[in-house]
Amino acid sequence: MHSILAALALLAMPADDGLKVAGPFAQRGYYITFMRMPTYDLADWKRIVDGIRDDGGNTLLLWVGGAFRSKTYPITWKYNAEHENVRKDFVRDLIAHAHTRGIRVLLGFTPFGYDGVNQYPLEHPELKAVGKDGKPVAPFGIGCWGYNLCPSRPESQRFMLEYVREMAFDFYPDADGLLIESSDYAICHCKDCGERFFEKEFEFVERISGEVWARKPEATIVVFPHYFSGAEVPGFGVKAAKLPFDPRWSLVFTPHSSSPEPDLIKKARSSLWWDDSPALRRPEEIRAGARRARELGVSGYVPSLEAFTFVATEAEEGQAWLKGKRQVPLGFGWLEPGDPPYDELPMRVNRVAYREFSRNPDLAFEAFKLILGRDLFGVASTSPAVDDALELQAGFNFERTWCQPSPLVSPERVRAMKGRGELTPKKRAEYRAVLDRLRAIERRHREPKVEGEKELRRAAGWMFDQWGGENGKLLDPAP
Ligand SMILES: [Zn+2]
Repeated sequence: MHSILAALALLAMPADDGLKVAGPFAQRGYYITFMRMPTYDLADWKRIVDGIRDDGGNTLLLWVGGAFRSKTYPITWKYNAEHENVRKDFVRDLIAHAHTRGIRVLLGFTPFGYDGVNQYPLEHPELKAVGKDGKPVAPFGIGCWGYNLCPSRPESQRFMLEYVREMAFDFYPDADGLLIESSDYAICHCKDCGERFFEKEFEFVERISGEVWARKPEATIVVFPHYFSGAEVPGFGVKAAKLPFDPRWSLVFTPHSSSPEPDLIKKARSSLWWDDSPALRRPEEIRAGARRARELGVSGYVPSLEAFTFVATEAEEGQAWLKGKRQVPLGFGWLEPGDPPYDELPMRVNRVAYREFSRNPDLAFEAFKLILGRDLFGVASTSPAVDDALELQAGFNFERTWCQPSPLVSPERVRAMKGRGELTPKKRAEYRAVLDRLRAIERRHREPKVEGEKELRRAAGWMFDQWGGENGKLLDPAP
């Protein structure tokens, strides 16, 4: 009797009850590169946070490096002066808002590299890391181009400490902790670093972690396993350090830069699986990601929901045609620069997928489609309409990369492919076939009965509107 009442009480609990989430994961939510989204203000970000809660999330990995108005190191945000948070510092208010929604916010940055930090060597070139060829590293970045630092230099260590202290203690003391994201693109190969690189990086990580815990013992600090595992670190040709692990740390694992470590997962306070599926892929991959996370025994699944709106100053991903242009978030080219992309129909498909599969990785795909249909079309939902929504979503993420929209929505990308001799007859036929299917979707929904159908038609229509006139000729069967 007692247990039945308890079960009924559980059923009566709202499914999206903040921190008390159902399913296999204690930590759910997204990783968002805030610094690469300069165009959104506090109102936009509040909406984004509300959306995370709608998706059953309780965790936001908010990458703030390079996107706050550091007083000590203005060089770190000079490149990002148009960022709304650099102009009107609002992350403190955003964190307060997130807390009212049961969402914990961890401040993200990379030690000795990536956005914000990699600007410091512009003023201190002597701190540049050394490449495998023994020379100072070449500039690199995504949106924020600069140089990673050599952690063996005391000045690099001092800079990292002061910069992160300023972020965590002066600017955003109410944040719930840090995401210390080791670089996935470069280390330092100087004579002092090399094989010992991760020991050097750890000097900073250990020190800042201690300082954060001294002020806030309950703070969550997510780090990479590269200081403890002793394993080969993907891509760098050096091994991780093998230093003692303090179980107060949380860990993050990724498919490309941080291999899962079962022994460390058992010891850590919490552990997260990250992948790129909600941002770049389809519901099938989100389900696979949730299953992988459960299989690994991690306590959280917090994948990427990254969308960029910065103006590229360099040829991102080697693509000269992107230079000087504002990034199109998720390839949704109908949006104004200040409109966040997450409530648009193709992204809602993936958000519902995340909500459902992170709650129940075993959910059958057909059952997911019924739920998705109700979300998008209400009681008017039909199975063909859901299939159309899935096809449209897949179209927007078809061959999309972090910085390049799908070729299906970007004649400029296709033109660049043609210029490089990559636009083979086979590719053209493939693109035409998908666009023909999307054209059929637009036709099927010309008399929309509900808002979801209108959106479906609008997005599909926008997609093939890109292919009028000269652009259309790019895909003609004859070259
Ligand atoms: Zn070095």
